[in-house]
This record gives sequence, C-alpha cells and structure tokens, in this order.
Amino acid sequence: MRPDAPAVTGDDPTHAVRTPDQTLPDDLLADRTLGDVAADIVVCRACPRLVAWREQVAREKVARYRDRTYWARPVPGYGDPLARIAIVGLAPAAHGGNRTGRVFTGDRSGDVLFAAMYRAGLANQPTSRSSDDGLAVRDAYVAAAVRCAPPLNRPLPSERDRCLPYLVRELRLLPELRVIVALGAFGWDGVLRTMDILGHRVRPRPRFGHGAVAGVGPYTLVGCFHPSQQNTFTGRLTPPMLDAVLATAREFAGLGPPRTAGSEESVAS
Ligand code: SF4
Repeated sequence: MRPDAPAVTGDDPTHAVRTPDQTLPDDLLADRTLGDVAADIVVCRACPRLVAWREQVAREKVARYRDRTYWARPVPGYGDPLARIAIVGLAPAAHGGNRTGRVFTGDRSGDVLFAAMYRAGLANQPTSRSSDDGLAVRDAYVAAAVRCAPPLNRPLPSERDRCLPYLVRELRLLPELRVIVALGAFGWDGVLRTMDILGHRVRPRPRFGHGAVAGVGPYTLVGCFHPSQQNTFTGRLTPPMLDAVLATAREFAGLGPPRTAGSEESVAS
C-alpha cells in the first residue's frame, strides 16, 4: 500500500517553469527529449575551474587506469525516460563518471548504488563498470546536481547554480516522475533548488536526513546518505539502509515491491 502522502506545501502540480529567476536557457521549452539536454550538457564549458580539473584528471589519470581514455566531459543523466523515481547525487567522480562518461559508473559509489538498484528491481545487473556494460535501468533515472567532476568533490555554489538548470530540464522531461531520492545533503539541497526553479517552493525548507521524506510540489523527496566510500566504509550507510530507502521510493512511486527482487527478469535490457 502507498504510504500516507506527506504534507505538501501548496502549489500546482505542473511541470511548467513559472519563476525563472535563476539562469535558465531561453529555449528551455524547446527541449523535446532527454537527448536534447544531454547534447547540451556534454559540450558545456561554462565553469572554467571544473573544465580545467576534469581535463587535468584525464591527462594525469591514476595508475590503475593509465591505459584508459577518459571521457573528461560533463556527464548527463542516465535511465528510463518513463522513470517514476529519480536518484540525484552530487557530481561525477574524477576517475568514475569523468572516466567512463556515465553517471555513477566505474567507481565504488556506483558499485554500491547499482547493487542496491538491482536488489530493488530498478536495474538489470548489480554493477556499473563502463558505458557499454549492458546496464539497463527501469522506472528510474540517475543524475547529479553538478555534471563535471569537482576538485575534492566540492563544487562551488556558483558552479552548482550554473549547472542546476540541466537538472531542471531533465526532470521536466520525465512525465511519470513521482519520487526523487537525494543522495547526501548536497543532492538534497540541489533538488530543492531545482524545485524552486520549477516553481515548487517549500517553506520552511525540509531538512536533509537519511530516510527523511518531504512533499515538494507533485513529488516526494526522499533523503539518503551518499554512497561515498567515506560513508560505506565506515558503516554510516549500509546496504540494508539503501534497500530501505529504495523500498520507500518504490512505495511512494506506486511501484510496490519488485516482482522478483534483483532478478534479470524484473528489468528488461
Ligand atoms: S559543472 Fe555544469 S555548468 Fe559547469 S561546466 Fe560542467 S556541465 Fe557546464
């Protein structure tokens, strides 16, 4: 059964951008597909500090990937265009998404996240190693608040604000979206700022916490500790904790429990 809907601060449940007081492209409404947005994202060079860092990392590499060619560009979201659940992280990892070109792919955070998505029936396999590894995601879309790998995993507020319109554009193009899982406080804040741009303001602002649930416009926002090594190696975030969050997300999305949790049959490739 669907959990009781959390209180929603009143605004209309449309996806229209009503208060474009932050920088939004004039042609926002021209987006027809997620591919339109991705095409703009992958050529973006709007943040000089992040452009320099993503390219420096790709030149210097790390020993274990010294024979690989890095993507070294911004990383678009990835997943099902009919997703009911969006999962929003912080930014690509320097040697993960910045290397492979796919969000949460090729790093330990992605291993933890996609293993949980597999158990939750949202992915066809428990690993996410490369952009051609056969991963298929159903009912879910994975993205980040910032699309370029930042030094020390810390984007500047100005970089975040410059990048968030891409998330706005992607979320607008998910017609079935009901639930947004925010990974970490940065992702939570990024989603709330995105919702502000979309006209779904919530005051007082809901506070981030693992398992926190808030109604934001037509969506339910669910908080989850970020699956960073810092959190998973220390036990601050465990697989059962991630499973519980994704189970909550499925319930609010009206998906119910996975038919066959984590099975190949539950997600068509
Ligand atoms: S962080 Fe976002 S806005 Fe900045 S360069 Fe990368 S894609 Fe462009």
